[in-house]
Amino acid sequence: MEKDKIGQLAEIIGNSGPMVFFGGAGVSTESGIPDFRSADGIYQEKVRRTVSPEEMVSHSFYERYPEEFFEFYREKLVYPDAEPNDCHKALAALEREGILTAVVTQNIDGLHQKAGSKRVYELHGSVLRNYCEDCGAFYDADFVIKAPGVPRCEKCGGRVKPDVVLYEESLDQRVLEGAVRAIASADTLVIGGTSLVVYPAAGLIRYFGGRHLVVVNKTATGRDSEAELVIREPIGSVFAEVMKRLNIAF
Ligand code: ZN
Repeated sequence: MEKDKIGQLAEIIGNSGPMVFFGGAGVSTESGIPDFRSADGIYQEKVRRTVSPEEMVSHSFYERYPEEFFEFYREKLVYPDAEPNDCHKALAALEREGILTAVVTQNIDGLHQKAGSKRVYELHGSVLRNYCEDCGAFYDADFVIKAPGVPRCEKCGGRVKPDVVLYEESLDQRVLEGAVRAIASADTLVIGGTSLVVYPAAGLIRYFGGRHLVVVNKTATGRDSEAELVIREPIGSVFAEVMKRLNIAF
């Protein structure tokens, strides 16, 4: 662990105005949720070729091959037993302390809320919410996990779709606006567990105009050169150590 850098981060957070955390898949890997994009492509009988993970979760694939979509979805995108790690817990504590104003996340696992975070902008939606495409009835993740094949509404028989933004679909405008507002008014922006490759989400960073830009990611990101501080360590242990330095229980 790069001790002096952890100290620097603690110092920044401890003296910061409104702080916003912008996170991606790397935040949840320590909770046992692998980045689905790292999965191998899957040979699909119906398509007669190997389909990439990104294509599996695209809108057109969902429409054309819903059975295959839900098979992949259940296996690679939903982790009902996952628990928040030290990063999720620390961010929830920083919000309670009045330091953190919002979490903006590309993750769909709901772990920030499970850890206690209140203001979370889920750019790509959540596996915890699912709606009938015909009548709008709500279903939880468990319903979709246990349904055989394509989940069907118990009220009207319509297809139940996860409230997840698939490739080719646009982001929810209200979520996007909330995230932009939070980032634009932040004094410190910590980018964590994302290499900032997925657009338009990654483009939100350009709205930041505050004093401290920090990147915590295992690999290089496109924003490293602009950042005041770059830490290439597992994010859970980074935040655990920072909270210790700040003397905030979490
Ligand atoms: Zn329905």
